Amino acid sequence: MAETCDSIIIGAGIIGSATALALARKGWKPLAIDALPAAGYGSTSASCAIIRPYYSTVDGSAIAYESHFYWKDWPAFLGFADERGLARYVNCGCTILKTGRNGQLAAILSIMDELGVPYAELDAAALQDRLPGIDLNAYAPPKRPEDPAFGLPNGGTISGAAFFPTGGYISDPQLAAHNMQRAAEAAGAAFRFNSRVAEIATRDGRVAGVTLTDGTTIAAPVVVNVAGPHSSKVNRMAGVDKGMKIGTRALRHEVAHVPAPEGLDLERNRTVFSDSDIGGYCRSETGNFLLIGSEDPECDPREWVDPDEYDTEFSEHWRTQVMRAAQRFPKLGIPSDTRGVVSLYDVTDDWIPIYDKSDLPGFYMAVGTSGNQFKNAPIAGEMMAELIVACEGGQDHDREPVGFRLRHIGREVSIGFYSRQREVNPDSSFSVLG
Ligand SMILES: Cc1cc2nc3c(=O)[nH]c(=O)nc-3n(C[C@H](O)[C@H](O)[C@H](O)COP(=O)(O)OP(=O)(O)OC[C@H]3O[C@@H](n4cnc5c(N)ncnc54)[C@H](O)[C@@H]3O)c2cc1C
Repeated sequence: MAETCDSIIIGAGIIGSATALALARKGWKPLAIDALPAAGYGSTSASCAIIRPYYSTVDGSAIAYESHFYWKDWPAFLGFADERGLARYVNCGCTILKTGRNGQLAAILSIMDELGVPYAELDAAALQDRLPGIDLNAYAPPKRPEDPAFGLPNGGTISGAAFFPTGGYISDPQLAAHNMQRAAEAAGAAFRFNSRVAEIATRDGRVAGVTLTDGTTIAAPVVVNVAGPHSSKVNRMAGVDKGMKIGTRALRHEVAHVPAPEGLDLERNRTVFSDSDIGGYCRSETGNFLLIGSEDPECDPREWVDPDEYDTEFSEHWRTQVMRAAQRFPKLGIPSDTRGVVSLYDVTDDWIPIYDKSDLPGFYMAVGTSGNQFKNAPIAGEMMAELIVACEGGQDHDREPVGFRLRHIGREVSIGFYSRQREVNPDSSFSVLG
């Protein structure tokens, strides 16, 4: 006889584990299934895990700001001790440069004012105090190294930045997923690893369960796609992709791990730094290192890939990203040995995720996290659990969207913001900034 459970979650990354935890806290007994050997071994493990409150939309920013409070009190949120210890929130704040490309932050700061997010504006001198050695020439637009103007100042200067104290990063994103797994197990969830879902079964017009590659069948009236960069493959298995206006695709990305620029002690002066003028972001990493990622400038080709078949070696992007960062921090060396990660974002058409039901009753999805949803994982899990309970209770979310209360900041958002049926959101940055 087939195994049965009340809900199956495909994928035990940070968001799948959070969904398992939130459902278990509502009295369900979810089973999270993952093809990999442990929670958070997929794209979660490659995450820079930056926490920041600013996005290009009000709802996106509200949820991101709320997430700070979950991470700030992580032990209380989990309510459970993990034998491996707890992931640490390095609440160092984050700095974003005022640039011509982000309209000197006017739109973002107006959203921050609307939400009551604290920030301080820094002039050029304050910025230099905070980040000794920073070069405040403007270089925009970001260029490719083969462009003769690469690395040449454009004649303008950076006027300043905004510093947000409710930000930073999580020390170990994979451990955070493991923490979530342990808390979920304590609440009644189960996890099964090294198990790949190969088929999704339907019966009488609704989802009926899954079949694994080894032939095991598991019956469940609810199945949730949280498969990260594999999300479009899982949606195709369920046949729900045709009922979506917004699609998801896997995008290859590289993050460089390099020694801190000479003269900058990132052990004492931890930082998160976003710089649209050169098209990159960086954050400190343990041992006085710097992680450098891309903000997807228009000049760089986007590498859409098959998540089961992509190049896991570093390419020339690695060096380009480091050289761009060296425009801002001229004392940054360019190491000859490439270190860091090559991984995948699961990107939607407007770089805003999909947290939604589907046209197949009982089949849900938390997908398209677009390189920017690690921070929101605890809330994404709770939103998915609210959505599932409401829909299974008969609510038609497509017509009457389920609401979600952001309890720390005292605001209600509509989960309909993340609908698969939305039009492409024109307010999005169409980049990892969301
Ligand atoms: C390089 C990089 C940097 C990032 N930096 C940040 C950041 O600074 N801040 C931020 O907020 N976000 C960031 N993100 C995004 C964030 O990490 C992701 O949004 C988040 O980790 C996604 O979690 P997930 O659980 O949805 O997916 P994943 O962690 O990818 O988990 C999906 C899981 O599904 C499993 N799976 C897939 N298909 C199947 C199947 N058929 N059967 C069984 N299991 C299956 C996979 O094995 C995988 O473990 C970054 C992402 C990357 C790649």
